[in-house]
Amino acid sequence: MNISITKNTSPKAKPDQTNLGFGKYFTDHMFVLDYTAGKGWHDARIVPYGPLSLDPSAMILHYGQGIFEGMKAYRTDDGRVLLFRPQKNLERANISNARLDIPAIDEEFALEALKELIKVDADWIPTEPGTSLYIRPFIIATDPYLGVKPSSTYKFIIILSPVGAYYPEGLNPVKIYVEDDYVRAVRGGIGYAKTPGNYAASIRAQTKAHELNYTQVLWLDGVERKYIEEVGTMNVFFVIDGEVVTPELNGSILAGVTRDSTINLLKSWGVKITERKLSIEELYEAHKAGKLDEAFGTGTAAVISPMGELNWKGNIMPINNGETGPLSARIYDTITGIQSGRIEDTMGWTVEVK
Ligand SMILES: *Cc1c(COP(=O)(O)O)cnc(C)c1O
Repeated sequence: MNISITKNTSPKAKPDQTNLGFGKYFTDHMFVLDYTAGKGWHDARIVPYGPLSLDPSAMILHYGQGIFEGMKAYRTDDGRVLLFRPQKNLERANISNARLDIPAIDEEFALEALKELIKVDADWIPTEPGTSLYIRPFIIATDPYLGVKPSSTYKFIIILSPVGAYYPEGLNPVKIYVEDDYVRAVRGGIGYAKTPGNYAASIRAQTKAHELNYTQVLWLDGVERKYIEEVGTMNVFFVIDGEVVTPELNGSILAGVTRDSTINLLKSWGVKITERKLSIEELYEAHKAGKLDEAFGTGTAAVISPMGELNWKGNIMPINNGETGPLSARIYDTITGIQSGRIEDTMGWTVEVK
């Protein structure tokens, strides 16, 4: 399939690289691919970034039949552009598509399209330390129809955003509120898919946590409200008595690429890492016994985000004196080092855009 390119004739001024924040600025172009039942995916194009024209009855607006992904491109010191494990994201896009009954995309073609788009907007990739180009592929159901059914038309779009740190705290620890009232997802539901509904379900609890001066919510399982699942848009890891523990993938947790990378790095370092059920009581007991050494979240946006404090039903658990622990720092330095080309990629994780 050919990709047509229409250049933006009025490019925007680039934002200040030292104050990018997250997801606030968008580049001059976007990739668009249409789907029509009977015809498949068609009309691949790179066009100027701008508003979409959608029918007000477009199904995505009413029933949320859509999926998204998030990954990053980095500019290396010697000027190359690297993607980090993009095939994993495209594979996951199709796992989400299957759950939402959206037709699969061709993962190889999607990677080619992504590379083409990045090349067109390459001068938008920031170079300041800690910055990168965030990539947001997404698919939306576009049938103008108010009945509930799978749409027969879709759009697959990729937009790009130069970003700095996800949390204003950077690698500094964030305070986390353990939510024991609202739940995010249940097994059999859509928790393992990256789909808008999961985030709609999470916003109220996040606002509540913010009001209590916490940065994010730690979710417990939706059935027993007992087992730790994940944080906002991050998977979670705890260092308990020298062993690293992360909740096992159970159908309601998103299988993060950063989670998988962290597990593989820890294994390669000979650190004991266990994927299993972990209850909040067990964590609290470990904390009381002085055995909770570190806690951190993993996700593309923040990469590693240490947790400096947990609040579970008013029980405050400070972790590592509210400071970034050695393992959190080592994982952060290694993953961001590989992503930005500063550390040799012995894992074969990076893909060059050229
Ligand atoms: C995207 C996301 C993650 C992190 O996944 P990565 O592939 O590491 O970016 C974790 N949890 C949720 C709910 C997410 O949406």
